Amino acid sequence: MATKLYYHDAYISLFTAHVLRQEQDKDGRWLAVLDQTAFYPTGGGQPFDTGFIGEQQVVNVEEVDGEIFHYLDSPIQDLSNEVCCTINWERRFDHMQQHAGQHIFSAAFDHLFGYKTIGFHLGNDAVTIDLETEQLNEEQAEAAEQLANRIILENRTIETKWVTEGELSLYPLRKETKVKDNIRLVIIPEFDYNGCGGTHPKTTGEVRAIKVLNWERQKKKVRLTFICGERVLSQFDQKQKLLLKLTQLLNAPERDMEQAVVKMVESAKAAEKQIEEQLGLLLHYEAREWLDKCTDHQIGIVFQNRTIQELQKLARLMITENNQAIVFLISENENRLQLVCARGEARAESMKKILSNALKVINGKGGGNDSFAQGGGDALVSGEQLLDYVQQIASKDDICNE
Ligand SMILES: [Zn+2]
Repeated sequence: MATKLYYHDAYISLFTAHVLRQEQDKDGRWLAVLDQTAFYPTGGGQPFDTGFIGEQQVVNVEEVDGEIFHYLDSPIQDLSNEVCCTINWERRFDHMQQHAGQHIFSAAFDHLFGYKTIGFHLGNDAVTIDLETEQLNEEQAEAAEQLANRIILENRTIETKWVTEGELSLYPLRKETKVKDNIRLVIIPEFDYNGCGGTHPKTTGEVRAIKVLNWERQKKKVRLTFICGERVLSQFDQKQKLLLKLTQLLNAPERDMEQAVVKMVESAKAAEKQIEEQLGLLLHYEAREWLDKCTDHQIGIVFQNRTIQELQKLARLMITENNQAIVFLISENENRLQLVCARGEARAESMKKILSNALKVINGKGGGNDSFAQGGGDALVSGEQLLDYVQQIASKDDICNE
């Protein structure tokens, strides 16, 4: 079995190795097995390392039946000599910071409130733990964050120890270990004792800081999102730049920003309402104008790019104004046709019938009742052609409701 260098020293990022085997898996992906490796395979919530074996890029690392598979972007050409391997240290050290930070934070919640960690995910942007509690309040999150940051500041050692099942009782473990032999403990003396196969820094100080981002209740647990290490600085930088941009855009200092946004949202809502009122008024005038223009009571108009809501409002205004009116409004919207059929109270034609006939021509869908109906379909004919057709149907005697 290959020597797992990351268990001898988590800081090895450069090493040489012999390639024991190179092959393609059933999906055609190249993989290499080495006699020793510092590449950490996905496991225990910690993602795999990336880097290079010789010239080849390591794109994934998995442990399968005790063997460590290094998945490569292309096969290694020369297998006779030792290969030089490098690990993407920035990625690995970030994982070490997040992982050790998680141990510290989980222990802090356990010490302070007895909340057990039942899930852990180390993501690209943030880390989550699932706490076995139905609720978490602001004060609790703050207290745990403070304790965790104190442990970091105290720069305690982080030790690892291989123990047998029998020796486990000597340690106050935070949770039961799943592994039964060759158990690896990660220990922060007097604070946390935990079975873990991940990579960790030598001291808590290297975690630098822990910052809670958010949390949410999920059924019977709380999922807490946080970040550690360099991520705290990079996210602070990102958020600070965003805030600065917003202070310029809103022309308000940071402390007044919330008020400025509330004001902006309110004034946008008021403006929207005003526009709607003005549009209503305009439609009213428009309806009058169309009614004045036409000599008989049958009105047919083809528009471009008007919404079905606008057509409906306009049609309603017209039939309210003139109860003798029968109104067909069509709008050509790119490759669609919208149609509204409406009649005044004094008329008897069935709008539903007329519409359903018209919709057949444009492969459309719609609905309504005998006095008001609307629908839309594909522009298989022009707006004018559809209007002609609709007016023809309306002129037949049998189109009145039974
Ligand atoms: Zn761990």
